[in-house]
Amino acid sequence: MENSATIAVIGAGTMGNGIAHVFARTGHPVLLADVSDAALQTGLATIRKNLAREVAKGKLTAAEADSAVARITCTTEMDSLAAAVLAVEAASERFDIKAQIFRKLDAILGPDAIIASNTSSISITKLAALTKRPGQVIGMHFFNPVPVMKLVEIIRGLQTTQGTFDTVRALSESLGKIPVEVNDAAGFVSNRVLMPLINEACYAVMEGVATAEAVDTIFREGMAHPMGPLTLADFIGLDICLDIMRVLVDGLGDPKYRPCPLLIRMVDAGWLGRKSGKGFYVYPA
Ligand code: NAD
Repeated sequence: MENSATIAVIGAGTMGNGIAHVFARTGHPVLLADVSDAALQTGLATIRKNLAREVAKGKLTAAEADSAVARITCTTEMDSLAAAVLAVEAASERFDIKAQIFRKLDAILGPDAIIASNTSSISITKLAALTKRPGQVIGMHFFNPVPVMKLVEIIRGLQTTQGTFDTVRALSESLGKIPVEVNDAAGFVSNRVLMPLINEACYAVMEGVATAEAVDTIFREGMAHPMGPLTLADFIGLDICLDIMRVLVDGLGDPKYRPCPLLIRMVDAGWLGRKSGKGFYVYPA
């Protein structure tokens, strides 16, 4: 896929604005869509701020940053996305929302266009089955913060063609990312391995084996993790961690994935981590 190929990004939140950022920085015209005009404005402001940070670090010039911003067109109209050859859906993690977006994209995009989802946990195979182009549907799972993290987990749905996979892998490399191939199963690989670690860390705290600080220090200083599992859980959001554990237990059917009762209680209390000011740690406003 040429650097001049138009990319649509649906959802301008945490992930969508990062995805738009990396495509625009690589030279692609980007159509950034959201239902909320305020989300588009906040997303664009975040892209400007993050590009300025790269300029300050000497990674690109001020002129290149300005050109990247100029390549992004914001819209609240899905019909404006028709020219895209690849659409990356990064809207809220709800099946009904993604289903509506997939059906709409399938109706408006050209017959050769690829539809990718940045979902953390929803089945790519199920989203693909909503379209008339299931072979051209794939998972492109970026990591937060997108402009910084190199990994893209590329998820093959049951019907994803080799051509679609090869195109998306080459495109990910052209963005400077490291693509890793996985098949479609609950939690893919990243969350299937990470979330049980976080969940087990919750059990260790609940059972009084160690404090949250002690668990995190063990992983930082003993396993060279940049942050401990409970610091990471606060960063991701405890509600998101709980949702993903539920996806694992439902999707894989093994009780070893059952969410830790402490995690459930903390979410019930509204202790969601960084975003609520309190999780395993306290975050002053
Ligand atoms: P977010 O809440 O920050 O942003 C979601 C955006 O989608 C919002 O701006 C919302 O207005 C928009 N939206 C909702 N319905 C829409 C619609 N019908 N059409 C267009 N836009 C719509 O969420 P996020 O954290 O950016 O997550 C987005 C996706 O990325 C989810 O599928 C999530 O699972 C996945 N993901 C998130 C992370 C993370 O660390 N946050 C990491 C990897 C993957």
